[in-house]
Amino acid sequence: MSSSSPTWLHENFDHTGSAFGLRMVRKLDEVQSPFQKIEMYESTDWGNVMLIDGAMMVTTRDNFFYHEMMAHAPLYTHADPKDVVIIGGGDCGTLREVLKHPGVRTAVQCDIDEQVTRMAEKYFPELCESNNDPRATVMFDDGIAYMENAAPESIDVIIVDSTDPVGPAEGLFNQAFYETCLRALRPGGLLVQQSESPLALMQLILDMRGAMTDAGFVDFRTLPFPQPCYPTGYWSCTIASKEKRDLTHFRKADAAAKPFDTQYYTADIHQAALVLPPFAARVLGG
Ligand code: SAM
Repeated sequence: MSSSSPTWLHENFDHTGSAFGLRMVRKLDEVQSPFQKIEMYESTDWGNVMLIDGAMMVTTRDNFFYHEMMAHAPLYTHADPKDVVIIGGGDCGTLREVLKHPGVRTAVQCDIDEQVTRMAEKYFPELCESNNDPRATVMFDDGIAYMENAAPESIDVIIVDSTDPVGPAEGLFNQAFYETCLRALRPGGLLVQQSESPLALMQLILDMRGAMTDAGFVDFRTLPFPQPCYPTGYWSCTIASKEKRDLTHFRKADAAAKPFDTQYYTADIHQAALVLPPFAARVLGG
């Protein structure tokens, strides 16, 4: 691919019979880690693009939808989040958003693959700008092991920002993992997990909620949001609570007065995301 002849790169989503393509200027880098293949491209219109095992993970242009919803929706749903753990999140975008909350006192990011973060530091430095925040710990380990060893009632919000439930991430979508999360959460604690596309993978969301229920979580809310470079472009995060509570209630005044800029998340966007369209509400019950 020479710079004079941009070439289209398409990711085919076999399970949805669809694809997403970006016009690329050149390939910037590639590394085969012990866990996955990480590729980096420069696109003509979407900035840099990271793929993991052929799946588009992050683009400069549209990552804000995902990182902002994965961080601010659960943090403003929690009464007073102080200690946050991100499982996965190796591109560091979610960590950067979490650290915008002045009340957060510790934020641990545990990704299994150090190469993802090393590539993000080179090609998405803006996502890594908070990695040296004194409250941040960027570590590399299997999130399954991390949560198994986490101290009981030591975390306020767990954010599972992982790849799809295949390969190293498969074990992050089952009852055994959710049981370790439940034990590690303090009273009032919340688990949030990227829950794929409600348009194409509703059964996965139901399966996740079923495993979370079996693990002891008692209330759930799935919040849809746009994510153009992911399958169907219609994505979601699912919030689960340790105790019975109405997850449609969040700190709306705090969110409206947030002391930081965002490109997508606002208190009104959060409020709107709590209203599922009929096709999803019929299945997920709101
Ligand atoms: N936003 C993306 C999505 O929704 O697919 C996820 C981005 S982030 C790059 C996904 C991260 O999950 C990767 O860096 C990968 O290394 C990490 N990951 C996968 N399985 C893991 C595990 N068992 N423990 C910790 N991190 C894991």
